[in-house]
Amino acid sequence: MDMLDPPSPHPASLSKPGMSYSDEKENLKAWEAIQSKMLNTRIEESPARTCCVLCHSTVDNITHCDTCGKNAYYCDLFCNHIHKPMLFHLPKKWNGTCINVPFPIQRNLHPAYHECSSMYASTIFVVDHEGQQHECRASFCPCEESALTFIRYNLWPAKPTNPKTGFDLRFMELLNILQLECHMPAKLSKKL
Ligand SMILES: [Zn+2]
Ligand SMILES: [Zn+2]
Ligand SMILES: [Zn+2]
Repeated sequence: MDMLDPPSPHPASLSKPGMSYSDEKENLKAWEAIQSKMLNTRIEESPARTCCVLCHSTVDNITHCDTCGKNAYYCDLFCNHIHKPMLFHLPKKWNGTCINVPFPIQRNLHPAYHECSSMYASTIFVVDHEGQQHECRASFCPCEESALTFIRYNLWPAKPTNPKTGFDLRFMELLNILQLECHMPAKLSKKL
């Protein structure tokens, strides 16, 4: 901030241009009038349904995936099926009160254009753009260095030889921008 700039007002005191004091009071009243209805609506929507969107069976303990979308409610079978190749989704199960029980997924990664009798599966850990760690099984082949196979999976390998951990390339791009635009030191990015 420039030394000559006046101190910024508190956000609550900011008013929209042209908004009078009485307009602001009306606006505040409208928020107060609707807030309990908003809370009830939110509660009504949890869960919004007990029917799997893919097979249409009724499920008591339905699973929801926020990353798939608001209406992404699945039975166990289809939840596991649809998420096998999706690295960073964290579906959760309804426990009778709320949706908060993590749904375990057996994730499998396979290179799109390589079939070979020498292929083998290995457990790796992947870190998403929010810094969360996920475990999955990934296929590798002696035909190429495993760090390169990580790149095929859109993951940046943690080390050049025999990596076991990879970072979502979008996460690396974000760190790159933070370094270039905000001059954030590389050491700090390890703490994100
Ligand atoms: Zn289903
Ligand atoms: Zn999902
Ligand atoms: Zn091969």
